[in-house]
Amino acid sequence: MSGNQKETPMMKQYREVRAGLPSNTLLLFRLGDFYEIFGEDAQRGSKLLGITLTARNGLKMAGIPYHAAGNYINKVLAQGVKVAICEQVETPKPGKLVKRELTRILTPGTTLENSQLESISNHYLLSFFLKNNHLQSSWLDLTTGAFQISNSANIADLFSFFHSLNPKEIIVSESQKAFFETESYCKAEYRSLWQQLISNRLVSEIPDFYFDRTNALQKIKETLKVYSLDGFGISITHPAIGCAGALLHYAEESLCRSPENIRQLMEYRCCDHLQVDLATQNSLEIFYSSKRTRTGSLLAAIDETVTPAGARLLEDFLSAPSKNLSEIRRRQNAVKGFIDYSAKILPIRDCLREVRDIPRILGRLQNRLRNPRELGGIRDTLQNIPKIKLHLENIASKQINEIDKRIHCLPNLEKLLLSALNQELPSRINEGGIIREGYNSSLDTLLSLSKNNKKWLLDEEKNEQIATGIKNLKIKYNNNFGYFIEVSKSNLSLVPDHYIRKQTMTNAERYYTESLKKKEREILHAEEKSQQLEEQLFQELVDKVLTETVFLEVTAKALAEIDLFSGWALLSRNWDYCCPEIDDSSILEIREGRHPVVEQHIRKEENGLAGSQAFVPNDTLLSSKEQQIVLLTGPNMAGKSTYIRQVALISLLSHIGCWVPAKSCRIGLLDRIFSRVGASDELSRGNSTFMVEMNETANILNNSTPKSLIILDEIGRGTSTYDGLSIAWAVIEYLHGQLSSGPKTLFATHYHELAKLPDVFSRIYNYSVAVREWNDQIIFIRQVVKGAADRSYGIQVARLAGIPDSVIERAKVLLNDLENEPPKNIFNKNSMHDARQNDSHLSTSKKRVKDNQQLKLF
Ligand code: ADP
Ligand code: MG
Repeated sequence: MSGNQKETPMMKQYREVRAGLPSNTLLLFRLGDFYEIFGEDAQRGSKLLGITLTARNGLKMAGIPYHAAGNYINKVLAQGVKVAICEQVETPKPGKLVKRELTRILTPGTTLENSQLESISNHYLLSFFLKNNHLQSSWLDLTTGAFQISNSANIADLFSFFHSLNPKEIIVSESQKAFFETESYCKAEYRSLWQQLISNRLVSEIPDFYFDRTNALQKIKETLKVYSLDGFGISITHPAIGCAGALLHYAEESLCRSPENIRQLMEYRCCDHLQVDLATQNSLEIFYSSKRTRTGSLLAAIDETVTPAGARLLEDFLSAPSKNLSEIRRRQNAVKGFIDYSAKILPIRDCLREVRDIPRILGRLQNRLRNPRELGGIRDTLQNIPKIKLHLENIASKQINEIDKRIHCLPNLEKLLLSALNQELPSRINEGGIIREGYNSSLDTLLSLSKNNKKWLLDEEKNEQIATGIKNLKIKYNNNFGYFIEVSKSNLSLVPDHYIRKQTMTNAERYYTESLKKKEREILHAEEKSQQLEEQLFQELVDKVLTETVFLEVTAKALAEIDLFSGWALLSRNWDYCCPEIDDSSILEIREGRHPVVEQHIRKEENGLAGSQAFVPNDTLLSSKEQQIVLLTGPNMAGKSTYIRQVALISLLSHIGCWVPAKSCRIGLLDRIFSRVGASDELSRGNSTFMVEMNETANILNNSTPKSLIILDEIGRGTSTYDGLSIAWAVIEYLHGQLSSGPKTLFATHYHELAKLPDVFSRIYNYSVAVREWNDQIIFIRQVVKGAADRSYGIQVARLAGIPDSVIERAKVLLNDLENEPPKNIFNKNSMHDARQNDSHLSTSKKRVKDNQQLKLF
């Protein structure tokens, strides 16, 4: 502001609010129908929002209409900038400065507005603190109230888990940020975990005292309205209390009041869950495809949910696969219940489609974001619940009946909402039209008064037209002047004396009369009254809904389970999945397994392409103590990568309670799944250095146990042949080790030299993906068979890829020369195994058991 201007009271008000906010937060200041942005903010805001910058008395300004603010705010948040909103909190009176208050600070991680949320994803705010070689952490989804805490010495595991949570904002203390970003303080390993996590995510720094344990504990107890954390099985000395408290502090600052929808704190323990590290999440395309889209991911392939809460539950399950046998079996059996009563699936899902996003609606209502339409959403949901329960009752399944017990009908609330709310509802409270006629007689009277008044106005217009003879005389209304009579310039001579002039326009004059003035007072009074009353009635309904919060929340959780499990039943039926048998054994046995994503993809393509093949199923047998390591050879394009991934995916699905694409399946609980892809296969991701590959391989060697499943795809390929081969050889030797068991491993490789390993190590076996030769061409039959591949068929594959014939012919001559005079080979390639390509491996392994009494697999 220029120095010689005296500051207005409003600008003083603005300055005081602004002073309490961090400089990088954009302040939107409500001024009538606009949110104004001033000064430095205006300059930045106009760029972020793409709006014009103006200046008045030397003060820079930019503004957005309040009713369109939503879209503008989304735009700013998407750019990682926070938005503070200062509202007028009383009705403006002429000549008096209207009271204004900061009502909300919107940040990407704390927003509750529907338009800023992805309905099918959780929306986490994450906080962590590295101390004494432990990672303390907490995460909160403010939209639903989900709140968890964790402390782990296995820092890398927790970081990997954070990736699967995909937090929208990360809260760290100033000192922690400095720690992670200073090379001399922080181990390189931790620094790289930090950098990976924060890339493309908003990190908000807050002062260290927010993490103070005493304050934090107090804040948690206050917010959760509890005296102790015993009820949640969490000790008050839990190391991550500070992080949990910091999140609540931050949420409170953002809402400008204490969050009202958080009632539980749960502990996440890494050891309760199958760990899937980030490299594995990526290479198995669990949450995203390699193109970073949801389509093409495992998540998308198994998502048959029809409600947002169901989709979010699936995300929860997939990011925290369970090691709890009874929980896994509960889920499997619920799916079985629906499959046994499959006639019920579609009718239930039709009802579920009418179920609204209750957890998020409740989150908003409890935190005073009120929207009439969302109250209608609760009504619509309640109306469908009895129908859903009726279907569920008829299903004889212990697990489904248990879920059904958690679904509450709330008939009184349903009746109340049905009688109180109009069928179609506005999205804003002050628009009117919320309350149904007949619900409240005072409101009815006020509304009929309004209606009569409108009719009076129409009659009056007609009467005045007749009385004055002015055919185009109009009675109109605007916000500044209220009701008036408008007469065009050409008819001015006909205006009677008792008309009082109000305003002159270019083509018309505006007048009022005593009777019009009187009516105007009546109308405005009635409208104000009815608006007030309607808002009061609406608030009473909101309060009524909130007294049922606990039942509604429990119900919503149960409905999400019904959605997920009935969806999985549909998936299992449509794609012929089986229920995997999970136990404590060291076996992994799959009959006729398929790749869930590739299979769906092929079927889709097939619909367009005549004669294309369906997915070819394959068997698998791994065991930590017997057939521990499978070396898989075969030409390029044969199906090696697909096969080893399908084994990992089926194993993962088994741990979330989903059925699996196979004829039958038996799996002993796993502690970890590792999947690594050799450098050159990952080229498209742009980070394919040999170093990364070796780093990740080192991680496997250091962290795998006999309970782990490892799939390695062309590891060693990123370097020269002999280097790569030697590394691959040594890695396998290490995984086999000297003990009697080791991690179950599938190793796809084009190093045929490795096929010698089974001669030396008892738990290593050769398999290959078979191809047929036909007239010097190869045909892919996609079948995994016992024994190593005998040739690489590189030239035939090159021909299939469209390399010109002359090049192919020349390559054949060269190959012939090389084969007759092989380069010196440390692994003595000539003594390689023959492939026995016509036996399916399972039957062969049975034969082998007979031959060799040491193997007792069957
Ligand atoms: P490799 O790793 O041996 O080079 P891939 O696993 O990448 O081969 O598979 C090559 C192609 O073959 C993939 O595009 C996939 O769609 C198809 N494919 C792989 N396995 C099967 C199968 N079992 N049934 C049908 N098609 C398959
Ligand atoms: Mg491959």
